[in-house]
Amino acid sequence: MTFEELRQKDSEYVMQTYARYPVAIERGLGATLYDPDGREYIDFTSGIGVDSVGACHPKWIAAIEGQIRKLGHISNLFYTLPGTLLAEKLCLASGMKNVFFANSGAEANEGAIKLARKYSFDRYGAGRDEIITLVNSFHGRTVTTLSATGQDKFHQYFYPFTEGFRHVPANDFESLENAAGSGVCAVMLELVQGEGGVLPLTPAYVRAVSDLCVRNDWLLIIDEVQTGMGRTGKLFCFQNYGVTPDVLTTAKGIAGGLPLGAVFANEKCAGVLTAGTHATTFGANPVCCAAALSVLDILDEALPEVEKKGDYIRQHIEAFNNPYIKGTRGLGLMIGIPVAGIEPAALNRRFIEAGLLCLTAGADAIRLLPPLTITFEEIDRGLAIMQSVLQSLEA
Ligand code: PLP
Repeated sequence: MTFEELRQKDSEYVMQTYARYPVAIERGLGATLYDPDGREYIDFTSGIGVDSVGACHPKWIAAIEGQIRKLGHISNLFYTLPGTLLAEKLCLASGMKNVFFANSGAEANEGAIKLARKYSFDRYGAGRDEIITLVNSFHGRTVTTLSATGQDKFHQYFYPFTEGFRHVPANDFESLENAAGSGVCAVMLELVQGEGGVLPLTPAYVRAVSDLCVRNDWLLIIDEVQTGMGRTGKLFCFQNYGVTPDVLTTAKGIAGGLPLGAVFANEKCAGVLTAGTHATTFGANPVCCAAALSVLDILDEALPEVEKKGDYIRQHIEAFNNPYIKGTRGLGLMIGIPVAGIEPAALNRRFIEAGLLCLTAGADAIRLLPPLTITFEEIDRGLAIMQSVLQSLEA
């Protein structure tokens, strides 16, 4: 099938909810991907932060193959080993007490929101159900997580939205304090706003919010769907900030490309979600959990290099000294590049045409989320493409 035939069939049979680039990816190895004609692309996207260990890592394949030959799925009415082992490893690594496995980031956040409201209901009764989130945040695409998302462009069409969310500007503690009232039960934060533009919160702000939560018995929910699983140089981004969440969510990179999400609770919240209050058919799927165990194993080696690789990429981009590039921001291998004089999407199309896959974020930025296992050689190849595209814009 030619690319044009594929595109036509797709537009006939698939809901056109994605503004796709005119490229089909067929296979890959590490951070190098190939289209059906064998054309090579360097991957600075990892499937939007999902392919954390790159394409086709041998340990990841072996874990999936090994599990799928034993059992592909069984309901949560029965015990399985991979989910329980994964829960133990993740709880020990995060300091959280227990976990509920979901299938995506939005679902993990739905679980966190339910948990926060039930915690408050159990302790204080009805009427204490508001959750404060940040302007410019992104928490998912279900009706409730859209409500949690602090961007007006997502609050259209799908009325009525779930009530009980208030959005306050990031890094502005006074606004948060002023917004608070007796109806609040939780604050939900992305420590680095990903979709919003790769915008880190300041440590002082996060610590102040955490203290305020403790004083009021509000739950601090940290959404690590994008920042989690090693992306920022620590297994979880909160470990860079010196705070501890009550509730923590993650998804994307957790299983290296298979669908899995997770909601963690600390000791105080560990007993809130009880039998019958929350469930999902596919949650803790043994193949996904086996994949996630292999990701943790691979990250043991890859994690110590994440910060170094992120610094390397940022230093090189800044050294391009290109007038379209206004600096870099982010943590670890979660990198935002604010651009001016060109639309980020237009620039990204140029990168992709030249063989480098990048993302955009917020209104002004190119976003890089390379696989955490990307090699320095692959980084250099990607940076060389980026530099030559930027130079051609100047000409
Ligand atoms: N939370 C954050 C911080 C995200 O970046 C995303 C997705 O981009 C989500 C939640 C939603 O995750 P999913 O698309 O897996 O539902």
